[in-house]
Amino acid sequence: MAICKQLLPLLLVITAFAQEKSGVSAKNGEQIKVIRAGTLIDGSSAQPHRNQIIVIRGNRIEKVLPEQAAEAVPGGPGVEIIDLSRATVLPGLIDSHTHIFLQGEDPAEGGYDVQLLKYGLAYRAARATVSARRALEQGFTTIRDVETEGAGYGDVGIKRAIEQGYIPGPRIFASGRAISTTGGYPLEGYAPEIESTLPKGVQIIDGPVQARKAAREQLDNGVDWVKVYMTHRSWLDKQGNLVSQPTLTMEELKAIVDEVHGWKKKVACHVYNGEGLQRALDGGCDSLEHGLELTDANIAQMLKQGTWYVPTLSVYYSWWAPEDTPAGKRDRKRAAMHIISFQKAMKAGVKIAFGTDVGGFSWNDSIAQEFGRMVEFGMPPMSAIQAATSRAAELLDMQGELGVVAPGAYADIVAVSGDPLKDVNELKSVKFVMKDGKVFKNELQ
Ligand SMILES: [Zn+2]
Repeated sequence: MAICKQLLPLLLVITAFAQEKSGVSAKNGEQIKVIRAGTLIDGSSAQPHRNQIIVIRGNRIEKVLPEQAAEAVPGGPGVEIIDLSRATVLPGLIDSHTHIFLQGEDPAEGGYDVQLLKYGLAYRAARATVSARRALEQGFTTIRDVETEGAGYGDVGIKRAIEQGYIPGPRIFASGRAISTTGGYPLEGYAPEIESTLPKGVQIIDGPVQARKAAREQLDNGVDWVKVYMTHRSWLDKQGNLVSQPTLTMEELKAIVDEVHGWKKKVACHVYNGEGLQRALDGGCDSLEHGLELTDANIAQMLKQGTWYVPTLSVYYSWWAPEDTPAGKRDRKRAAMHIISFQKAMKAGVKIAFGTDVGGFSWNDSIAQEFGRMVEFGMPPMSAIQAATSRAAELLDMQGELGVVAPGAYADIVAVSGDPLKDVNELKSVKFVMKDGKVFKNELQ
C-alpha cells in the first residue's frame, strides 16, 4: 500500500495507540477502517468541514473527528487507512425514485410495451441486477425502487440477493407491483377483444375492498412501500391547461393508506395535477411523486400534512414528442409547469427528496444529472445534496442511520475529486464508493 507523506503522522499516532492498547481492532472481530477526508459534507451540516477523520467499525461509523484529534483514533494491526485527503467526502447518495426493472427503452425500439410482451422475467431480472450495480457505481448506496412494471416482486428478490451478498447493489426499499385502476395503466391501446388477456404494469383494483386486498397482498410479499398511481393520462385542454385523468377514488386510496399505515409503512403516490392530486392529498399519501402542477392550496395542504415531494425533474426532458403535435405541446407544458411547482414548493418549505425516475431513462445515463436540474431551477447545491442524503433518509424513516456521515450511521460513504458546492455536476463522477463499511470502488488511490 502506497502511503503518502501527509498520512505518516496519523499512522504513527495510530501505531503508537495500537502498541498501547493492542487488540482494539480485534474486538468482536470487526474490522476498523479510517478515512481521512480532505473536505467532508456530512449530509446535515450547513457547511462542509475540512480535514476530518472518519472511523468505521464493521458496517457502522463509530467516530467523526477533526484531524487534530487523531489521538482518539483507535488502531491496531489490520486497521485500514483510506486516504481521501484530496477529495470531498459525502454520505452515500439516495435516489428516492427508481425503477430497476425498466431500462429506458427507446420508443423507437418498442418502448415500454416490449418489456412486458417480449422480455421474460429471467431476462428482466438479469438486467435489473445490472441496474442495481449501476446505481452503486454512481454512488447511490440506497434507492427507493417504486415498482417493477409487470415484474411482480422482482425488486424484493433483487434486494434479498444484494443483502445476502450474491450481487453488488444499493440498499433497496422495494414497492413491488404498485396499484392503479382499470383504465389507469399500460398495457393499453390494444384491441378490446385481447386487452383483458394482456399483462399490466401494475396490480389493477376497482373498489375499496380490492384496494385493501391488494395492499395486504403486497405487504405480505415483502414490500417496504406501496406505490399508487393517482393520475394516468395527461393532455392539454382547449385553453392549453394541463389535465390529468384521475384513477383511484378517495375511498379506494383511503383503504390502501389505512392498511399500509397499520403496518407502519408508507404510501408513495404518482401524481401529475388536478383531481387525482387532490385525492392523493385528501387520502393521506405520504409522498407525492412528480407533482407537475402544484397549486398554492396543494402546497399549503402538503405543509400541513407533512407530505413529501419527490419531483423527478430530469426525466421530463427525455422523449419529447415533436413540437407541433398535441403530445409535443403537452410534453413542453409539463416541463414548464414542473419548474414553477418545484420553485413554489421549495420557497414554501415543502419537504423535498431527491428522486430521478431512472429506468424511465437509461441506467447508462447519469443518475446525478438531477442535481444539475435542481440547482438550475434555484435550489442551492447544499440543499440538493441534503435532498439526496439526510432528507431522503428522513423520507425512508432512516434518519441518523442513512444519509449522514455521523457516529452510529451505516458506513455508506462516497467521494468526488472536486467541489460539488461549486459545481454540483461533480456528483456525476463519484470516484469512491463504500457501502456497509466495504469499499466497492476507489479511483482516488
Ligand atoms: Zn416512476
